[in-house]
Amino acid sequence: MSNIQKKTDVILIGAGVMSATLGSLLKELAPEWEIKVFEKLANAGEESSNEWNNAGTGHAALCELNYTSEKSDGSIDISKAIKINEQFQLSRQFWSYLVNNNVIRNPQDFIMPIPHMSLVQGGKNVSFLKKRFEMLSNNPLFQGMEFSNDPEKLKEWIPLIMEGRTSNEPIAATKIDSGTDINFGALTRMLFDHLKSENVEVNYKHSVKDIKRASDGSWEVKVHDIDSGKIEYHSAKFVFIGGGGGSLLLLQKTGIPESENIGGFPVSGLFMVCNNPEVAAQHHAKVYGKAKVGAPPMSVPHLDTRYMDNEKTLLFGPFAGFSPKFLKTGSNFDLINSIKPNNVFTMLAAGAKEMSLTKYLIQQVMLSNEDRMEELREFIPNAKSEDWDIVVAGQRVQVIKDTEAGGKGTLQFGTEVVSAADGSIAALLGASPGASTAVHVMLEVLEKCFPQHMKEWEPKIKEMIPSFGVSLVENPELFQEIHTLTAQTLGLDEKELAYS
Ligand SMILES: Cc1cc2nc3c(=O)[nH]c(=O)nc-3n(C[C@H](O)[C@H](O)[C@H](O)COP(=O)(O)OP(=O)(O)OC[C@H]3O[C@@H](n4cnc5c(N)ncnc54)[C@H](O)[C@@H]3O)c2cc1C
Repeated sequence: MSNIQKKTDVILIGAGVMSATLGSLLKELAPEWEIKVFEKLANAGEESSNEWNNAGTGHAALCELNYTSEKSDGSIDISKAIKINEQFQLSRQFWSYLVNNNVIRNPQDFIMPIPHMSLVQGGKNVSFLKKRFEMLSNNPLFQGMEFSNDPEKLKEWIPLIMEGRTSNEPIAATKIDSGTDINFGALTRMLFDHLKSENVEVNYKHSVKDIKRASDGSWEVKVHDIDSGKIEYHSAKFVFIGGGGGSLLLLQKTGIPESENIGGFPVSGLFMVCNNPEVAAQHHAKVYGKAKVGAPPMSVPHLDTRYMDNEKTLLFGPFAGFSPKFLKTGSNFDLINSIKPNNVFTMLAAGAKEMSLTKYLIQQVMLSNEDRMEELREFIPNAKSEDWDIVVAGQRVQVIKDTEAGGKGTLQFGTEVVSAADGSIAALLGASPGASTAVHVMLEVLEKCFPQHMKEWEPKIKEMIPSFGVSLVENPELFQEIHTLTAQTLGLDEKELAYS
């Protein structure tokens, strides 16, 4: 059975944090536009955006060592850290706007203040961290960062990590209290509740099977209603493919030239979760270490205090792994199905280039639970196996494409907006820095797909996100003002008062 539905202005595919953010922005900018959402699962925020499927770090480059690299002359390049921090400030501003407008009633339902720390061991790593600290702490965006290589100070900051540590190797950490833990699942669900109340038609258990260009230039989307078994056809002037790991397969169906020569490589993840509340209570920070050789940057181990299911808990990981699925709920044929004549050489080139990643993933897949405990003991020397369980995290599909700098088949670790030349369809690929920068990425979708509306929308965008289009690092006073205001609105200010 099939039926043709009427046309709509916008179709959002997938009910993750990206579609939630784009839908919420569009509802503010063009309230009269009709929006439909199709999600194959029974609820919003069930895939990567779910709180148990990601690490919940508000990525602002406050603790992630992979955002600051050491140059050949020994100096530290902080340009990526600045970029990510500025992008995170856009999210803070939009979320604050939503709180001020009662879309989000209680910010603590999705965002909590938590110190962000970087921790390293060994003389070389300590001197890297010190140089990194000197660069960052002189920058207005990273004010309040502290450094210590004094074991007594570190015991105050991270008692659980320092207890039982016998090694004489130098150890050091940086700490900044303005970090955040974010429940992206809760945020996504709140935004979809709001969209539904604004007459957005959200169709759960509706799986998108095909996307074709219609003769009038609009897009026809073929949807399978999972409960009734019916096939429906919906058309829209603009389609956003926010299918997370599933976006690549959908993008390929559009046949747009921009979808060619792009592949995806899935990396799965596992976290260890502490089941002993007494142990969890002894730690209060997100502590990021250094990635192992060959490890992809998103596999940096970290020990995180998290706020989920109304509880403070403790997670360690992620451990990477390999599964051919593009979504946690995906199919074992996803990787094979994504290989097309136009991307096969790109994929093969990546396979040949990324031997260290392949080796790393094989090693990770082979780890036993006791091996994982040994990795955890590098953070918590006294960790007991019985206090820790394993949870399966979400899938990340890393983009593989041909680039000028990296050549054919280069693995990308960022997010990519791929859109048709006429702006009628866009897809989001990649997963890092991910949900934290959803607002920045969705503003990029608006700029690429609706250039004709940007002038008219700019005043409203600036009302929601005052720093839109402005460099915060070059305007430290504006940064200070925005940072203080968003901290107050989002309930993050108590900790921040300690250093401001
Ligand atoms: C292990 C791990 C750790 C991470 N840690 C962090 C972190 O600390 N901080 C951070 O900011 N980000 C983190 N991320 C990244 C972040 O989770 C993602 O960037 C973000 O959740 C992606 O949101 P999305 O809306 O694009 O995708 P998703 O949340 O995956 O949503 C996509 C939706 O599309 C649906 N869908 C797919 N195909 C179809 C179809 N054909 N028809 C209908 N529906 C479809 C899916 O069911 C899903 O609900 C992490 C990710 C992983 C996996």
